[in-house]
Amino acid sequence: MLFIGPHMSIAGGYAKAARDAAAIGATAFQFFSRNPRGSRFRKHDGEDEAAFQSLRRECGFGPLQAHAPYTLNLAASDERVYDFGKTVICEDVRRMDALKIEYLVLHPGSHTGAGTEAGAVRVASALAPALEGSGSITVLLETMAGGGTEIGASFAQLREIMDLTGHADRLGACMDLCHVYAAGYDVKNDLDGVLKRFDREIGLSRLKSVHLNDSMGALGSKRDRHAALGEGEIGMEAILNALEHPALRDLPFYTETPFDDEGHAQELATVRRLLAARAAGRGNQPSS
Ligand SMILES: [Zn+2]
Ligand SMILES: [Zn+2]
Repeated sequence: MLFIGPHMSIAGGYAKAARDAAAIGATAFQFFSRNPRGSRFRKHDGEDEAAFQSLRRECGFGPLQAHAPYTLNLAASDERVYDFGKTVICEDVRRMDALKIEYLVLHPGSHTGAGTEAGAVRVASALAPALEGSGSITVLLETMAGGGTEIGASFAQLREIMDLTGHADRLGACMDLCHVYAAGYDVKNDLDGVLKRFDREIGLSRLKSVHLNDSMGALGSKRDRHAALGEGEIGMEAILNALEHPALRDLPFYTETPFDDEGHAQELATVRRLLAARAAGRGNQPSS
């Protein structure tokens, strides 16, 4: 079973997001844990959440992923920004865990001049209290493109943050294809090599999900600009290779491509058709 779907809006509630995702052929999806550019979150709505849980079961979705807001910067040296981030991540780990969401992904942050080492220590100490307790949600650090003073553009750095938290068991990684490519990992021509390196530096057992994005920026450009699948520098062949790679194919794939629901439906259909054509070319039937 291929678990794939886009980033959905929860503006109309969680149940509507699940219904809309199923309607466009998604078997998994991502959404923002709260307003991505502010701090507000949806008020608890028991009826909507109950409807959401039964739709999840009915539709047979794979793992769902919440994305922390972009305003979060756990590497910030500014105390006000840092404290806001600590509060948000603690709240959202608990809120998303209560909603039984499998993964909460966040950008490690930008050190804004303090240096990557200092930034990594700050992220880890902000995450530690959020990871205490008995929740079952796994918090994922996203692989970043490395623009500006962004940290998390190297696998080694993500591993360092995980180790520093003291709660590595509750942490994993989400690999964004656009970001890793922009960071200089050649997932287009050497996906195998990149995944071997990930395995050495973080461990493939910690890779929990994939952001399936093509990249407008070139290899190593540090540009975080997503392109529609097949319309960027990575290209459709390499995207399909990622979907079929033994180390990735059982993970959930979330697209963050510039489309509305109709465009996402078409993109998902295209991916499925191309995967089926490949499978037919090999003389076997696709598994989904
Ligand atoms: Zn992200
Ligand atoms: Zn991005």
